[in-house]
Amino acid sequence: MSDSTASVTDPAGTAADDVAARSAPLSAECRDALEHLAELLDHAMSEPDAEIVRAHIETCEPCLEAADVEEHVRLLVRRACYSKAPDQLRLRIVSQITVRRLG
Ligand SMILES: [Zn+2]
Repeated sequence: MSDSTASVTDPAGTAADDVAARSAPLSAECRDALEHLAELLDHAMSEPDAEIVRAHIETCEPCLEAADVEEHVRLLVRRACYSKAPDQLRLRIVSQITVRRLG
C-alpha cells in the first residue's frame, strides 16, 4: 500500500462537504439523519424522532462530523446576522436561546 493515497479523513479536506453533497454512498440511516440535521439543530423535531437521529449521529462518524460542521456554520451565521437582524428575528433568536437555557 502506498502512503501517498489521500486519506478520507484528511483534516485539510472537507469530509462534511462530501457528506452534504451526497457523493459518497450513504446508508439509508445516514441519509435520513442528514436530511433531518437542520430540523434537529433548529429543535424543530419532535422528541422520539429527534432522539433516533441524535442517537445515530452520535455513533456515526460521517454524520457526527457533518452535524458538527453544520452547527458551527449556524453559529457563525447567527453571529454574523445577529447585529443586522430585524427586531422580530432577533426576538426569535433570543427566545430560542432562552428556551434552550430553561430546557
Ligand atoms: Zn450516519
